[in-house]
Amino acid sequence: MEFKNTEEFARSLDEQDPLKGYRDAFHFPRVNGRPVVYFTGNSLGLQPKRAQAFVDEIMRDWKELAVEGHFYAGKPWWDYHERLIPALSKIVGAREREVTVMNTLTVNLHLLMVSFYRPRGRRFKILCEEKAFPSDQYMLQSQLRFHGYAPAESLIEVEKRPGEHHWRTSDILEAIDRHSDELALVLMGGVNYYNGQVLEMEAITRAGRAAGAMVGWDLAHAAGNVALNLHDWDVDFASWCSYKYMNSGPGNASGVFIHEKHLSDPNIPRFEGWWGTKKETRFQMQPSFDPIETADAWQLSNAPVLALAPYLASLELFEEVGMEALIEKRDRIVAYLEFILREVDREVESTFEIITPSAARGCQLSVFLHGEGKPLFDYLMKNGVITDWREPNVIRLAPAPFYCSYSDMFRFGQILKQGILEKTSG
Ligand SMILES: *Cc1c(COP(=O)(O)O)cnc(C)c1O
Repeated sequence: MEFKNTEEFARSLDEQDPLKGYRDAFHFPRVNGRPVVYFTGNSLGLQPKRAQAFVDEIMRDWKELAVEGHFYAGKPWWDYHERLIPALSKIVGAREREVTVMNTLTVNLHLLMVSFYRPRGRRFKILCEEKAFPSDQYMLQSQLRFHGYAPAESLIEVEKRPGEHHWRTSDILEAIDRHSDELALVLMGGVNYYNGQVLEMEAITRAGRAAGAMVGWDLAHAAGNVALNLHDWDVDFASWCSYKYMNSGPGNASGVFIHEKHLSDPNIPRFEGWWGTKKETRFQMQPSFDPIETADAWQLSNAPVLALAPYLASLELFEEVGMEALIEKRDRIVAYLEFILREVDREVESTFEIITPSAARGCQLSVFLHGEGKPLFDYLMKNGVITDWREPNVIRLAPAPFYCSYSDMFRFGQILKQGILEKTSG
């Protein structure tokens, strides 16, 4: 499709947008009295307006029912987390029994390593991408040390080639092959937080499994953003946070996927708690653990229902719209954003470099602003464009399809251009 860098054209795209009504389902912060252009849905999604009513419901039930709310609230608390599963299992491409909601992401990755990182003899190494999200690096290093291995010798970090900004799948597959008799685990970020690259999860999973390793994915930047088929891809386990593309609220609960084939396998150990025992016998307070036959067996504690309430509200929106429609709009709005960036680049003779590979991207474009500095970022923020800055000079732009408009992209282009011109003339 031919794009144009005009307000009328952007508005016409908005009019044709099947999701245009959903913009109004979210609260936008305001700068100078205007809703912002929000590019950080990859970091913290906007608040769905209906979230408030879901939280109020829990507060009211707590006030009026107190402990009885566990069983007699309109949405009883003792199995509240199960309400999130139908929507979540569709988002990640799993059977319902393979998915649960609990804890937070880094905590869950540690718990999943208890089950799926089982080093033995020569097979003890872990493969990941270089410069993984820091929490993942700390998690992997501390797990290795906990098991008595030195991270420098046991963590294989697949590098990008010199001068390139993305990983080549062939390099990842080759590294798996080269280490095939010493790999215990492949654990990578499905969508890289820095360059926005979507890794070829299916091919990498197949190669890791074929090498005899377990394969897990950190889906922090993937869940609610890209198409996932965890069950069919034969992924062993995965985890994700919910406050990025899934708009659940700051620091909110994480999701976990455990492949069906592992659910009742007595050879897979796990750390256990009372919320993982069968509901029918849980309150008999028996000394022995009677696991639920789903991913819920990995649950430890009773669920933070107040936190799950806005998450459930948000998932209702995902149920209404579906990943297919979100992905369709995502591709179009990211293509329009790319077009706007190239137009501005040409007009101001700047040198933007989009480092996100065009053939492997989701919602995010990471842009190197060569010759520009932090003042440009500050200018954007002051003028109502919320984005983020990563050293040395990369901005990450993620126009979440639920609530960003094509007119936002046009407006961003105007502000960006103004910011560059003001700086060069002043
Ligand atoms: C956002 C993100 C996290 C955050 O972890 P928390 O435990 O939720 O604080 C972890 N890993 C990746 C890849 C992320 O993008």
